[in-house]
Amino acid sequence: MMEIFKKIKNNIIKILIKLDNGFVCDTCRFNHPNTCSNPQRPNAKDCEDYEHK
Ligand code: SF4
Repeated sequence: MMEIFKKIKNNIIKILIKLDNGFVCDTCRFNHPNTCSNPQRPNAKDCEDYEHK
């Protein structure tokens, strides 16, 4: 159940960042070379793996 709320929260934050035309990595808990190997880091504007810090 908490997973659902976490997903909703992460999606709302992503939408707000998108509206601001910003980069989602800036507020992502995985924004570090050790924790994220996605090539678009740190300049992703959308990401399926995003989780708010
Ligand atoms: S998981 Fe996605 S949003 Fe998070 S740091 Fe990596 S690329 Fe950026």
